[in-house]
Amino acid sequence: MSELAVGNADSDEEEHPHPWPHIESMFTLVKVRKNSYIMRCLLCLPKQTDISAFKNSTSNLRKHVARIHPNKLAKYTDLLENHRKRKSSSFSDTLVKNAKNHSLCCPRAGNTSNA
Ligand SMILES: [Zn+2]
Repeated sequence: MSELAVGNADSDEEEHPHPWPHIESMFTLVKVRKNSYIMRCLLCLPKQTDISAFKNSTSNLRKHVARIHPNKLAKYTDLLENHRKRKSSSFSDTLVKNAKNHSLCCPRAGNTSNA
């Protein structure tokens, strides 16, 4: 186990900011783990569906939307793309589109871990 530089001791009930505010309307933050976030799908409500997402990737959330809420996938990718465009307008748009199309037909990218 590697130690991260943390200044404060454990505090279970601490509130954390949403890691991806642009998708806050679809996923709410439930819990923060060492390397992942536990997100709750608001589209599944009143059923409570929690999804773990790696801190550097929202791909698990996108997979959930693609599988369970395929009619919302366009809205979800729209939120992500709008966010990306705002942040780095110089980034190639075609790259993002290609990546999206690719991941739609190949949802598994070698990630088999499922806690
Ligand atoms: Zn859902």
